[in-house]
Amino acid sequence: MPVRLLSFASLTLILTVGNAVAACDFALRNTEPTNAQIERAINIVNAAVRDPQLALFFSNTTEGTADGDGIPVHHIRPDQARPVVAEVPASCRAIVISGVHFERNFAVLSKDNVLMQDKQISMLVFLLMHELGHITNKHYGAFLPATADAVPNKDETEAKARERQADDYVATILKREFGRLGNGNPPIDNYDLYFGTTEAIMFLSSLSFVVSSEATLACFGCRSLGDPRIFWDHGQSHPNFEYRLLLINHAISATPESQALLDSYEKVRNEAGARKPLYQKQ
Ligand SMILES: [Zn+2]
Repeated sequence: MPVRLLSFASLTLILTVGNAVAACDFALRNTEPTNAQIERAINIVNAAVRDPQLALFFSNTTEGTADGDGIPVHHIRPDQARPVVAEVPASCRAIVISGVHFERNFAVLSKDNVLMQDKQISMLVFLLMHELGHITNKHYGAFLPATADAVPNKDETEAKARERQADDYVATILKREFGRLGNGNPPIDNYDLYFGTTEAIMFLSSLSFVVSSEATLACFGCRSLGDPRIFWDHGQSHPNFEYRLLLINHAISATPESQALLDSYEKVRNEAGARKPLYQKQ
């Protein structure tokens, strides 16, 4: 699995939360177009979540929400950040985004890849909703991010369970919003933001395809051999990113195709351990 994908897979989560709302001070980074992209993503997430208690606001441009219940999103300088794109910090109820890490990772992900071109906002919607999922689940504690040289495994850890909970939150919100297309009830009051959400749903489907393709290219032959590097987790903190995306997409909109993709992936994931040696000569 290429490092570039692992970086997005490692959206970490050190957190806090509980009910305490501590003040957080970060050195902010105000760079365009990233600031505008983050602000737009925040508006889309708020329109999709529709919960005033969980309303995000962009601390780089806004002091706070009127009622003070909002959750600040800070676009911070890289020297303030651990090498992750987004996280819920340990000391406060907030989401931080390291724009430099985001820009670098997205540039690599979208290089020569038409499916990822100009999709920064959709990626940010996914990242913000995932971190919001950690906050709503009151996760706390520090976890190490996945590393490229970690031994592939499918150990069940508390940290991985937390990641699945945060992903489940994303899927629940997006499934609900996707369903509104059909019934129009409650009425959609802002079509521009609403279609930002549907774009994010389509983006996650594309991202799943891209991640699968990249993993196959990075480890040629590994997929057909059921190699754990493709099918297992890369560390103790996060489930395999390709697997996560298959689960999220299936949860948002189950189709015979999404079921078949998931089934075949899980079959090999479960069988991989029984295959020894791992890299058989053909
Ligand atoms: Zn996470």
